[in-house]
Amino acid sequence: MSKTAKIVILLIVVVAVGWGIGKYTAPSASPANGTNAGTGTDLGAGPDAAPEASPLPDGEQTPGNDASATAPPASDGSEMVVADPDSTAVMVNKQYSLPEEYKPADLVYPDVPFIFSEKIEKRMLRREAAAALEEMVAAAKQDGVHLAGVSGYRSEATQRRLFNNYVKKDGEEKARTYSAMPGHSEHQTGLAIDLSGSDGKCAAESCFAGTKEAQWLADHATEYGYIIRFPEGKETITGYKYEPWHVRYVGKEIAASIAERGITLEEYFDAIPVSK
Ligand SMILES: [Zn+2]
Repeated sequence: MSKTAKIVILLIVVVAVGWGIGKYTAPSASPANGTNAGTGTDLGAGPDAAPEASPLPDGEQTPGNDASATAPPASDGSEMVVADPDSTAVMVNKQYSLPEEYKPADLVYPDVPFIFSEKIEKRMLRREAAAALEEMVAAAKQDGVHLAGVSGYRSEATQRRLFNNYVKKDGEEKARTYSAMPGHSEHQTGLAIDLSGSDGKCAAESCFAGTKEAQWLADHATEYGYIIRFPEGKETITGYKYEPWHVRYVGKEIAASIAERGITLEEYFDAIPVSK
């Protein structure tokens, strides 16, 4: 695509958002140089998920989708770059990536326990998500559930290093089945965090499912603007296996709508499934 065409698409998106088309920011995207998207998954403490391919779900019309219509996702698997990476509603997945080397400008250290003590990158979240997390962890504590952070923000450089290590170990093809490609990890938005119980048991592992911490999150996360980003039974839409520990801040309004309707962020934006 020519530079001019890209600029035109960008302008359309900017104007559309400016006019308030759609109540929320849509995961508008523009094709990125025809690069083929890799598959990939969340990378928490360990390989989180394996992709599975699948057909389209019923495309329900959802708010916030209008702007994306200006640059519909390619059906050939080409990579799309999100237009507004700073939106708390941004959708990053196997198909939609963040702009190259994107880093949120408002990363802070949330005042909640983590399963490690160092003040390092993965302890950070964006300011709004961090404040909501603090409220959520405090509320859980009131209910006798002690949540702790496992992994929050992750830079593209860190993701690249992790991914390259997996490629060395297992080869690229296999690595792509369980590791997110750089630029495609939701952790890079600073709006996602893996949580566990404060004992760190089952941190980012499937045995977290069924714990009282997982149950509490499933019951209450939306009250704080978080969603379980990769719900059970939605693998074919999100491209990720069930990850009860991975929560994503989207704000209270969107979280409530998603929970009420029992849908995913992809369905909320009426985006095509990303798994392959
Ligand atoms: Zn995660």
